Amino acid sequence: MKYVFGPVPSRRLGRSLGIDPVPLKTCNWNCVYCQLGRSTPVVNERRDYFPPEEILAEVEQTLARLVPGDVDWITFAGSGEPLLHASIGRLVAGVKQMTTLPVALLTNGSFLHLAEVRDAVLAVDAVLPSIDAGSREVFRRVDRPHGGISFEEHIEGLVAFRQAYLGKFWPEVMLVKGLNDTEAALADIAAVLERLRPDIVHINVPTRPPAETWVEPPDDEGLMRAVAILGKSTQVVVPGEAEVDLVSFETIVDAVIGIVTRHPMREEEIRRALNRWSHAEVSRALAEIEASGRIQMIERFGATFWTALGSRYSQDGHDRNTGEPGKRERP
Ligand code: SF4
Repeated sequence: MKYVFGPVPSRRLGRSLGIDPVPLKTCNWNCVYCQLGRSTPVVNERRDYFPPEEILAEVEQTLARLVPGDVDWITFAGSGEPLLHASIGRLVAGVKQMTTLPVALLTNGSFLHLAEVRDAVLAVDAVLPSIDAGSREVFRRVDRPHGGISFEEHIEGLVAFRQAYLGKFWPEVMLVKGLNDTEAALADIAAVLERLRPDIVHINVPTRPPAETWVEPPDDEGLMRAVAILGKSTQVVVPGEAEVDLVSFETIVDAVIGIVTRHPMREEEIRRALNRWSHAEVSRALAEIEASGRIQMIERFGATFWTALGSRYSQDGHDRNTGEPGKRERP
């Protein structure tokens, strides 16, 4: 499967079947915390990165194999920003025609200032946009958007979308210590959220390998400050860790590569998730994958994560893959 992955358990969406409509790390933001590594280059061009018919054919094949109860949501997400796919409206309409399962969209929301993009995704049942900043300065430091993106236009796009949208609107705030967990930064985010009238806000913290080595989750005080400030105007949820379960994949190799490409994991998590195979089978398959060079290992937070071979992470301020100095150190 090239475009469809899972179903995988999601903290917010239960058992989620993912549709990944863009190539690895195709994004118009370059978030310091991105678990898929750096966006190199940062891409702001909307086009058909893959033929929509091919993506829809794969979704149809997968749905035909599922039995009721296998999946709670179908989710556009994965390797980058789904709204960069120029035919996202066709993809949403095509999936809605195939199934009555609810459809979700994980997005940074940065194209919602365009009326045609807002219209294209009005039919999804839940939109989960990233809202990490309430000011231009923090936006630039945390999300590091493409130079052609204006913070003000981006926020007005989200507000315009929210006014027209009748589905579930569940923003996520990813907190990075020292960047957006201060009182001032949180008050700015709260002001944006107040305009967006979310049904619920999910606070998240980096637990997967961030693109930049210096990224840290907030301490308890920062997290409590966020809950107190953001919770003044809306219900806030701090999600716990989700166990990833790989039982729906047919082989161990498919399971590991299919998931770590979109969701880097530590070896012990991989082993736990593969418990339907024997310890010896899992060890053999992991050794085979490692030797094949189809994944890379990345060190963060004192742990080793398995992640996609093509992902680009910084290492001591340098690009891990090329050895070149990183252009963007901690601002
Ligand atoms: S976290 Fe999402 S929006 Fe940010 S760079 Fe990664 S894929 Fe793009």
